[in-house]
Amino acid sequence: MLIDVHSHLGRVLPDRREYVDVTNLIAKMDAWGIDHSVVLPLSEHPEGAYLECDTEDILAACARYPDRLIPFCLIDPRYGNRATMDFSHLFEEYLARGCQGLGELLPKMEFDDPRCLNLYRQAGRYGLPVLFDMQDRPEGYGLRDEFGLPRLEHALRHCPETFFIGHGPTFWAEISGVVPPDQRSGYPSGPVAPGGAVPRLLRQYPNLLADTSAGSGNNALTRDPAFGVEFLDEFQDRILFGTDSCLRSDLGRDWMTVTTIRDLRAQRKLSEAALEKIEWRNALRVLRRPR
Ligand SMILES: [Zn+2]
Repeated sequence: MLIDVHSHLGRVLPDRREYVDVTNLIAKMDAWGIDHSVVLPLSEHPEGAYLECDTEDILAACARYPDRLIPFCLIDPRYGNRATMDFSHLFEEYLARGCQGLGELLPKMEFDDPRCLNLYRQAGRYGLPVLFDMQDRPEGYGLRDEFGLPRLEHALRHCPETFFIGHGPTFWAEISGVVPPDQRSGYPSGPVAPGGAVPRLLRQYPNLLADTSAGSGNNALTRDPAFGVEFLDEFQDRILFGTDSCLRSDLGRDWMTVTTIRDLRAQRKLSEAALEKIEWRNALRVLRRPR
């Protein structure tokens, strides 16, 4: 079985022909051998260049394929604009309607902004994992952190009940102990140096997980193949398969993270037990079961 914890609907590019509707998403899943997909809203944040994919859109689409699709909800931490905002009316409603997590959280805010910590804490109280994107660029979208990810560490310590699923270029650049400053929002290549913040935090905080999705996750796990296999083996309980395909035209081509997991399986580089955890068991453990 294969569960994708990171899929999208709606439109990322201005080009309307790239609009991903639910039938296109299901066709991609069928082509890539994916049984179930978590579908992530994005439009609650004004930063996202994403259109027509808020929580309501996601719930409506998932209702058409309840056996295949798993909805997440999204709440902007600036809603109410105070660190004591009570989001329970939203969480109660979204849980009752079947949402199993929060994300993709990507406001352009410091990772441990008090308004974010408040949202993470409440998500944890409702048993919802928080899937986030981290990008260091001043413009655009994505949570921000410094070298070594001290703000993420603050959140992990501050919200021990909350599962965090890490994603995005800055998160994954920190897999290495050496992060060239100009590549912190990019796709660093070459050997991974020991002492990276991501392995350190994964060892130290049981509430941190990560997905394999997108160029960022796939690059981090394949740039240094021997390190990648060791990393996946050590953190086999914490890594979740994901795609992050955002375009209609992705159908008809191979998807990099699907190829990576298939290659690992074909080459028997990881145990069957480790592969099953990454492919689906970890997702089932972390996703909130519908009431
Ligand atoms: Zn995404």
